[in-house]
Amino acid sequence: MADCLFCKIANHEVPASIVYEDDSVVAFNDINTEATTHILVIQRQNIATLNDIKPCHDQIVGEVVRRAAAIAAERKISAGGYRVVFNTNREAGQSVFHIHLHLIGGRSLGWPPG
Ligand code: 5GP
Repeated sequence: MADCLFCKIANHEVPASIVYEDDSVVAFNDINTEATTHILVIQRQNIATLNDIKPCHDQIVGEVVRRAAAIAAERKISAGGYRVVFNTNREAGQSVFHIHLHLIGGRSLGWPPG
């Protein structure tokens, strides 16, 4: 989508600190990091929210989640623990309407989130 910030990051039209990319998935550091590790993992395909996920998206959702786990392992935060979050729509704080997984870790995380 022409006006989507995360599509532009995935296409290298907007700069970001990209930590991983392949043909279907891109991961980059969040610009307002909430922890030592705060990475956003996205699918290249523009899908606005989790509410729009259909069975045909199962593979790409799996790739996004597995990539988050792989990055957590690379950063050696797997054993200590980390959190993944998909904020969905405005009451949950979603501000960019291109599904993105927040991978947060590297410190103790409170629960429940605010
Ligand atoms: P949401 O609030 O939609 O769940 O998460 C959007 C995230 O995108 C926020 O954590 C915000 O800090 C991050 N973000 C917003 N604009 C940019 C940007 O231009 N570059 C990067 N790397 N992250 C951004």
